[in-house]
Amino acid sequence: MSWNKKIGRRILANGIVQGVGFRPFIFSQASRYHLTGWVRNTTLGVEIEINGAEDDIFTFLANFRSELPPLARIDQLVVTEQEFKPSLTFEIIQSSIDTKSKIIITPDVAICPDCQREMSDPNNRRYRYPFINCTNCGPRFSIIKNMPYDRQNTTMSTFQLCSECQAEYNDPFNRRFHAQPIACPKCGPNVWFEKDGKKCCVDESAIQISRQLLMDGKILAIKGLGGFHLACDATNCDAVEQLRKRKKRSDKPFALMVFDMQTAEKHCRLSRVEAEYLISPQHPILILDRLSHSNICELVAPNQTTVGIMLPYTPLHLLLMEPSDGFPEILVMTSGNLSEEPIAYRDDEALERLGGMADGFLLHNRPIYMRMDDSVIRVVDDHPFHLRRSRGFSPAPFMLPTSKRSILAVGAELKNTFCLSDQDNKIVSHHIGDLENFETYKAFEEGIAHFERLYKITPEILACDLHPDYLSTRYSVERAENENIPLIQIQHHHAHLASCLADNEWRRDEPVIGLCFDGTGLGTDSAIWGGEIIIGGYKEYQRFAHLQYFPLPGGDTCIHKPARTGLALLWSSGLQWDTAQYPLNFHNPDELSAILWQMENRINSPLTSSMGRLFDGVASLLGICQVATYEGQAAIELETIANPDETDFYDFPFQNGLLLYPSLISALIKDLKSGNSKSNISARFHNSIAIACLEICKSIKMKFGINTVAFSGGVWQNSFLTRKTMNYLQASDFSVLVHQKVPANDGGISLGQVMVAANSF
Ligand code: ZN
Ligand code: ZN
Ligand code: FE
Repeated sequence: MSWNKKIGRRILANGIVQGVGFRPFIFSQASRYHLTGWVRNTTLGVEIEINGAEDDIFTFLANFRSELPPLARIDQLVVTEQEFKPSLTFEIIQSSIDTKSKIIITPDVAICPDCQREMSDPNNRRYRYPFINCTNCGPRFSIIKNMPYDRQNTTMSTFQLCSECQAEYNDPFNRRFHAQPIACPKCGPNVWFEKDGKKCCVDESAIQISRQLLMDGKILAIKGLGGFHLACDATNCDAVEQLRKRKKRSDKPFALMVFDMQTAEKHCRLSRVEAEYLISPQHPILILDRLSHSNICELVAPNQTTVGIMLPYTPLHLLLMEPSDGFPEILVMTSGNLSEEPIAYRDDEALERLGGMADGFLLHNRPIYMRMDDSVIRVVDDHPFHLRRSRGFSPAPFMLPTSKRSILAVGAELKNTFCLSDQDNKIVSHHIGDLENFETYKAFEEGIAHFERLYKITPEILACDLHPDYLSTRYSVERAENENIPLIQIQHHHAHLASCLADNEWRRDEPVIGLCFDGTGLGTDSAIWGGEIIIGGYKEYQRFAHLQYFPLPGGDTCIHKPARTGLALLWSSGLQWDTAQYPLNFHNPDELSAILWQMENRINSPLTSSMGRLFDGVASLLGICQVATYEGQAAIELETIANPDETDFYDFPFQNGLLLYPSLISALIKDLKSGNSKSNISARFHNSIAIACLEICKSIKMKFGINTVAFSGGVWQNSFLTRKTMNYLQASDFSVLVHQKVPANDGGISLGQVMVAANSF
């Protein structure tokens, strides 16, 4: 082998390789190693032809992955040999469009440091321009109307590039080469301020008047990247209270935005990993422990020790939040909607829906095509848990090889997402929301239509939940009938297990133990499941054990009234009713006898094994929460007070496939009556569940030799429980799979459904 032998190679790279500065990167790498040939976008990814000295080609290939542009991700790299083709140059050539193949669409990206620098440079032509972006940052998915990803197919199509922008766009060495949303003050979108239907200031003065409004303690509606936000000074309790009233949201925490990392550190405890996520290109909301001296108003997150914080992710946010004397250093930045409705994203719709809530609007004329909520992450022991996967993350696909047929899985009812599967690509949608709301249901239908058009996928199989009344189920039943395609209905907790496996790129055939703990999921016996210990994989599952059933007097009413569940637990544990105690003292005698009657006569009192309700009921018994105004409130408040140093626990026996709660409840009540602190009791309750999980897993291991345990379901958003259970299991040599990229809650269901369906056909 001679050192200067000339060879040729053809490379096909797929993953996130378009709209991320990948071709200029290849161009510069090729020049560095004196290679000739070309690079082009194709619908399969990026295709590269290189010719040169053997050593140079090998070095080029060896360094390829390690030096990628920041937003690029390679899922697959196929290198084929071909003969050396002598030529003098390396070129970026015209895209080749092949209609029937995989497309990957890039999520929206927060403003990058280079653009931030340019924006604050008075000599730059984009100085203080609210729509500055480049190949490494800016809007993507939220402005795409169609594929391929070219400017004509985005909501930027109506803005004609000026000659300077055009020159940057055409220059392969410019950092805006083929940046589709490229814009400048001369040719791009602009901002204005509106109040009472009157447009009053534009550009810089619109930003200044908006700032004044916030300084005055008023509420501002801001058109952002994926929708509207409502903002106010988070340290001004009158403003926050006003916002709660107008939004009709009583206790659910508001998200916050701070100008920079230093301010975040002033108010919250930040680990290295949390800080990394905060400034990552996705800029999600991080759930952080708030420091006790912080002056963030209590009303931002009532009864919680954490707050959700994000950094400004658009140039407009940065301009709006610029630190100055008298300007609030921390803003509430909550989605622009009435409680439970989806986030507003069209101008006319926002002006109408938010008119009664905002004292002014900061608007712009770059249309949002796809609504996109902020993503939410909580880090537990350096492990990131996505509580909501949306802006910045969706629609990046999951690569999981399955059957080649295309599948649409429609998810569950609450925190809905849907998922499309095309060959190995599993594309989980952004957060849609709770489908019981009509507006949200419309967004669900529109979202599905949009994804199918973008990705050119026509589902051959539909997958949905077992619950006949979920609107997502009804949608798929109807569609399966109309289009005459097969529909598979998947048990909720099986989908949870499959979701956790997929999230961990599980490719083995062997069964695992699934600890599927959540609030509600219809079981195959018509009971409401939710404390399920199942054994299985993508294809099948078997219910090994579950929380012993108890009644829910009033059915779904219990979700909003933990007090009822508290009563049900007392009653079904055969405990004395002490009217001086919670939750008896919360009800009047008539209510009490009505609830008792419902349970005794089994009237509208469905049975449940729900772990989520067990948490609700215990929160009620301890007098922590009797009425929940948002999902999971009682459990969150119970977790919040738990003493992390407490190691004691209650007896929570497991017999004949049942996890028996009555002894747990009676021990807990006894402890409460003896005067033990709620903080200790809450911790003991959590510990009891963790230990029960360990015991059950051990017995499964003895019986079936299974050593892997997967946690899924909304209950695992509880970091106290997750941490404890994980520690116990790992100390006994179990390997534990937890969610990372999709939520443990029902936001992850659609991915699980797709995997079950793909393995069933
Ligand atoms: Zn940039
Ligand atoms: Zn321009
Ligand atoms: Fe669930």
